[in-house]
Amino acid sequence: MARISINIKEAKIEKREIICGIDLGTTNSLIAFVNKETGKAECIKEDGKNSLVPSIVHFEKSGSPFRELAGKQEQGKIIVGSIAKQFLITDPQRTIYSVKRLMGKSYKDVSGKENYFGYKIIDEDEDKLVKIRVDNKFYSPIELSSLILKELKERAEKVLNAAVKKVVITVPAYFNDAQRQATRDAGKLAGLEVLRIINEPTAASLAYGIDTKATQEKTIAVYDLGGGTFDISILKIHPENEGGIFEVIATNGDTFLGGDDFDRAIVDFWLQKNNLAEEKLLEDKSLSQSLRLKAEEAKIFLSNNNQFESQFCHAEHFDKLSTSFIEAHPDLNLNISKKEFESITQHLIEKTMQCVKRALKDAKLDANAIDNIVMVGGATRIPSVKKTVADFFGKEVYDDLNPDEVVALGAAIQADILAGNQKDILLLDVTPLSLGIETMGELMDVIISRNSKIPTSAARQYTTSKDGQVNMKIAVYQGERDVVKDNRKLAEFTLNNIPPMPAGLPKVEISFILNADGILKVRAKELRSGIEQSIDVKPQYGLTDAEVEKMLFDSITHAKEDMNIRAVLEAKTEAQQVLQSAEKFLKINTAILSEEEIAGVRSHMNALEEVLNSTDKDLIHLKLDELNEFTQPFAHRVMDSVMLEAMKGKKI
Ligand code: AMP
Repeated sequence: MARISINIKEAKIEKREIICGIDLGTTNSLIAFVNKETGKAECIKEDGKNSLVPSIVHFEKSGSPFRELAGKQEQGKIIVGSIAKQFLITDPQRTIYSVKRLMGKSYKDVSGKENYFGYKIIDEDEDKLVKIRVDNKFYSPIELSSLILKELKERAEKVLNAAVKKVVITVPAYFNDAQRQATRDAGKLAGLEVLRIINEPTAASLAYGIDTKATQEKTIAVYDLGGGTFDISILKIHPENEGGIFEVIATNGDTFLGGDDFDRAIVDFWLQKNNLAEEKLLEDKSLSQSLRLKAEEAKIFLSNNNQFESQFCHAEHFDKLSTSFIEAHPDLNLNISKKEFESITQHLIEKTMQCVKRALKDAKLDANAIDNIVMVGGATRIPSVKKTVADFFGKEVYDDLNPDEVVALGAAIQADILAGNQKDILLLDVTPLSLGIETMGELMDVIISRNSKIPTSAARQYTTSKDGQVNMKIAVYQGERDVVKDNRKLAEFTLNNIPPMPAGLPKVEISFILNADGILKVRAKELRSGIEQSIDVKPQYGLTDAEVEKMLFDSITHAKEDMNIRAVLEAKTEAQQVLQSAEKFLKINTAILSEEEIAGVRSHMNALEEVLNSTDKDLIHLKLDELNEFTQPFAHRVMDSVMLEAMKGKKI
């Protein structure tokens, strides 16, 4: 494809439409824009004060009890932000937080970490993407993130009194393609056109104006210590005459280290000081939560003062503590000095510095090769954090901007550049529409997403769905819709002579290579046998700009309906596969199951079959979940009997 020049100034951007930047964070999210009058980026503050929107979604308990009794469930209200946060303790099952940790993740990816989440993550025990169950509804992290994005969009529209339809969203530098695509899809579902996904450290550097105007190559370290995560990124900025590109050369971090750990260290310190380390106090969630909040207050206070003094008054919690406990302990002394705070948290800062050293090592750089250090995240307000980082690099750090807002501000600046406000014409070598193939259920699986810089290449592995399958049809599509029939078909070919194997065993790698002339080479290769087949296509052939625009527009207006169709088709495909396996399971294991158990499996299978053609994905998931739960104990028993069989005749 030739260079596409988009003169955005002349493009149809409606009057009073503002392009915003969004920091979709694990704990908090923000939306920002560039103020035309001042030319400066600003975060949108709802009540003129707070720019942070907690990334928390609460599902109100459904309808009245009478409707529930009548078997009719009414969908409760969905609440996002600080009001939702209040339900974290009182209604954890219906209050979803940290969704970002689940974006683009399969159940296997999060296995072992389920206890971290107070809500139910559905165990598919497969490579499938995770889902979150709230009552009898099943939500993907994409849907949940879209609710947060929608809240941000509405907040901005209200404050700015303008439409917000186009945005730039930031993601961590280490996010993979699946996580980036999930973020894009969440935007689409929220009714937004995601102009670009940019890396958080890149956005932070843009906010400080360390960018494309550079005349020399620069190396930047972005130190991001938030509430629950720590990231360090080393970026290289190539000078303007070489394209002014930000390149991430190394990242490191700890996904479970942040300001919360500093709070915990203070709580431990107080418990020890009051001889309470082993006390029941911590078993009571609301009491330990109050202590934790006090600790955070102390931490923040100590960023600007030398001594924090407070008391924890038993009387306030009188109804929650036993009389013997109150008698045995006086009110707690909650004092802590800055010196004490620094000494009990030094090991946490040290932990971040280990990550910094590893990142530098990966980048093959010394600390003194770093030109600028950008501080991001609320916890970088802690003076000892700033000092340790500055001492290590031997330079002052960039900390003038609000560290909570810096990523969103940078996203807004990027949005403004894309809107053509900072440069008249933007020259982009990008694919205007996504490219992908058809997968089971006639769904589009994107391999190269829209707006990818070209030349580019990407590959993904697939497998067969039937035992002994020797051919695989590969249909190539272009477009943004979820069901292939709504997209544009580019080509189709068949990979023949796959050696017969059980379903799921062959590994077919489909790679897309899009060269600078816009020619797409699609190659399918079965990796076990090495057989391969390829085809060349011209994605842009015969497609006008107006048609591209229409395809994009349709994808946003139909996003919700597309998402539903996709979810139903995926649930149906999954149900069919589970039914097949259950059938196989019954055939092979008749001997170790009782008649009652077999009848039970059958009745659960029938229940699932009955809803197979339903358009209610939650109903299909519910029946699937019930069948899985029912058969789980048998699967364990089969494993045991296989082990016993294998041991037979073996001398130990
Ligand atoms: P973020 O996830 O970037 O919003 O960072 C939130 C973290 O920053 C929380 O652990 C806050 O307690 C912490 N934080 C916010 N303000 C301050 C402050 N003035 N001093 C120390 N920590 C702070």
